[in-house]
Amino acid sequence: MAEHFQPREDVAMRAGYHSPQVDVEVRLNTNESPFSPPQAFLDALAAEVGRVKWNRYPDRAALDLRVKIAALHGVLPEQVFVANGSNEVLQTLTLTYAGPGRSVAVFEPTYAMHSQIARIAGSEVVEGARAADLSLDRAEVRRVLAESSPAITYVCSPNNPTGLIETEETVREVLSLVPGLLVVDEAYAQFAPWSALSLVSEDLPLVVTRTFSKTWSMAAARLGYLVGPSWVVAEMEKVVLPYHLDSLKQAAGTLALDFVEEMEHRVAELVEERGRLVAQLVDLPVEVWPSSANFVLFRPIERDGDAVWQDLLDQSVLVRNCSSWPGLDGCLRITIGTTEEDDRFLVALRKALS
Ligand code: PMP
Repeated sequence: MAEHFQPREDVAMRAGYHSPQVDVEVRLNTNESPFSPPQAFLDALAAEVGRVKWNRYPDRAALDLRVKIAALHGVLPEQVFVANGSNEVLQTLTLTYAGPGRSVAVFEPTYAMHSQIARIAGSEVVEGARAADLSLDRAEVRRVLAESSPAITYVCSPNNPTGLIETEETVREVLSLVPGLLVVDEAYAQFAPWSALSLVSEDLPLVVTRTFSKTWSMAAARLGYLVGPSWVVAEMEKVVLPYHLDSLKQAAGTLALDFVEEMEHRVAELVEERGRLVAQLVDLPVEVWPSSANFVLFRPIERDGDAVWQDLLDQSVLVRNCSSWPGLDGCLRITIGTTEEDDRFLVALRKALS
């Protein structure tokens, strides 16, 4: 057999992002919303399809959408950068501020794409460790920042996959220490009691990233954004591909922002359901971490995490298997679903644990 032409050596060495898309009855593995968007939004979007000028490139600046996001958060449109999911926001930010010869700091265990994107961009990744209870260890943060002077420092709050939130005091302290930019990844912030958005200003090296994938029931749309100083956004605009955000997606995002109340209602429902689920989990032989997100991390105490994950899958319930991730020995992560889905999960889990 002929040898294929090989990619970059560092790419050939790496495994890609791994999250199995298995056909199951109860899918609680990727932190999506269990609810579809409001019908009125779907109707408005369907009408919009006919209005798109399909022969023309989209508005490169995505101005309508940025104006609306800016109004939602009380910032200027120049302080908003929008892209295809917050993953693309993070990738553009990394290409702009990190890359070869610069480093990116993460505190593990955290969202795997932070380091994956950094490595693919050619940056060095410096990994700090979290405390034994998986909280951010401020002494470790100080050590990592002083030793490696990263261009980008990540704080994921609420953190994926632990669900733990950082306090305002912690974020302020890290912000006062970073030699480069601080990224607070708030993919799950709507489920949490506070947001670092209130700290964003033109004078601080702080950016906050958000997504339409979770709260807004729009994971299929691939839409995310960043709120930060306008001088960061201006540099990112030089790096991102022209016309990266298609016209229909821009319209979808803009229309979605007419339904803030409906979305807030869904969030409140999920937060209540999270409370119900956790209350049931704590009565089982599992260790549970307090969550400020739309998922919960837990560890079966008497059985191997892998075996429990497989038992759940055999009962057509898919959760995220984190049991082999560094620092998360035996852990599983369940996304909050509908009451029916979560009940199916609980029945399956009780069986798996017995
Ligand atoms: N950040 C965190 C912490 C996440 O968990 C996710 C989704 N898994 C993302 C960013 C990416 O979200 P999206 O690209 O769908 O906006």
